[in-house]
Amino acid sequence: MAKKRKKDLEIKRENVWLKLKKDDLKKVEITGEKLLNFMEAKTEREVVAKVKELAIKQGFVDINRVSKIKPGMKLFAVNREKTIALIVVGRRRISEGLNLVVSHTDAPRLDLKQMPLVEDSGSELCFLDTHYYGGIKNYQWVSIPLELRGVFVLESGKKVEVSIGEKEGIFFMIPDLPPHLDDNVQGKRKLLPGIKGEELNVLAGSIPHDTEKSPLKLNVLRILNQKYGITEEDFVSAELELVPAWKPAYLGFDKGLIAAYGLDDRVCVFASVEAISGLKVPDRTCIAYAVDKEEIGSDTNTSVTSMFLENLVRKLIQMEKGHAGYVEVLDALLSSKAVSADVKPGVDPIYKGVYDATNAVYVNHGMGLTRGPYHGGKKGANEANAEFLHQMRVILDNAKVPWQFGNSGRMDEGGGGTVARYLATRGMEVVDAGVPMIAMHAPVEIVGKVDVFSAVKGFRAFFEYPF
Ligand code: MN
Ligand code: MN
Repeated sequence: MAKKRKKDLEIKRENVWLKLKKDDLKKVEITGEKLLNFMEAKTEREVVAKVKELAIKQGFVDINRVSKIKPGMKLFAVNREKTIALIVVGRRRISEGLNLVVSHTDAPRLDLKQMPLVEDSGSELCFLDTHYYGGIKNYQWVSIPLELRGVFVLESGKKVEVSIGEKEGIFFMIPDLPPHLDDNVQGKRKLLPGIKGEELNVLAGSIPHDTEKSPLKLNVLRILNQKYGITEEDFVSAELELVPAWKPAYLGFDKGLIAAYGLDDRVCVFASVEAISGLKVPDRTCIAYAVDKEEIGSDTNTSVTSMFLENLVRKLIQMEKGHAGYVEVLDALLSSKAVSADVKPGVDPIYKGVYDATNAVYVNHGMGLTRGPYHGGKKGANEANAEFLHQMRVILDNAKVPWQFGNSGRMDEGGGGTVARYLATRGMEVVDAGVPMIAMHAPVEIVGKVDVFSAVKGFRAFFEYPF
């Protein structure tokens, strides 16, 4: 027996840039440009609107406008403007299983409280009171330009979208203490949380309306009323998010990285949409499903735990053969394969100590595959089965997708979760895969262009695989 050489025995970690073909280089550039455009969407509703717009351009049709499906048909289904599924119908029966790539549309941010407008009469400044959404580091959200996006539903039932920011030449900000005065109040605090939740108050106005009680708040309400027809009570039926006002941009002299707000997990939403848009007629029906509320535990009717997926499968079966029974829906779910598409913490060399170097993912090393993510004694892990991981290896290698394997960080350093486990409870095979990221959950997050390209390629190979 011939002696195996080193390269046959050891996993080789490689920078994708060094092995890109000329053709692929061009695709990487185009992917980067498209992602920059996609990241202009900064709320889950905006993301869904953007995906829908892109899908319609690619020939996807609203599922409610179709009564019968046939192979190759492209459909989309939306749940409450915050969740969207793009579907490409395959050759095989729905009950034989689906290939799903599931990402999430929501991102950490500051939500407005239901009664957000507060006036500080002593200082004569008006503030918006916020409640953080998802795992943020409070101190990162202070002293940065913010913009307000979201919807109001007025008393009349009319829905009003707002996006107040750069276009109006306006931004909002949480003012920080000057270094001249921070010795005692902030100097004695730990970095985390550093800024308390109740200190996340956003400066929003300074001109009094007249000499009445709370003149500053009144003035803000007057402006909002003039422009949008809003009264204070309308804040009760609203979803308003303060998000970083920066525009998505390349990072670094070589433009290899992309920096934008909300890349967790919109980079995977983007990659799954790109992947499914390029499909011809797949063997199994494919769904790129972007869900909401992952960052706060997936417990709402727009999250992955909602019955939207079951109902979608029911509809597809009905459109395939005229009627759908519970058993067929179960069959479809149990025979499905899923990629839980979410970002992974890539090694940040400034804090090397928190990563497990041999079990970590690295930026520019391709799409990351993981058995985690988890914390403590593997809590929250999906623990993909060895047999399914084998299939994924084969799929990615055959399609020449640059990929790597790695977990979240060193043991006992913390951890996280994804939607994987909620898909797994439906009986399907699930693996976590996605784009390595630096500065996850910061107001601006960072990914590598080549990794986004790899994810698109990987998700497409997965969609095309005839399990
Ligand atoms: Mn995520
Ligand atoms: Mn996250």
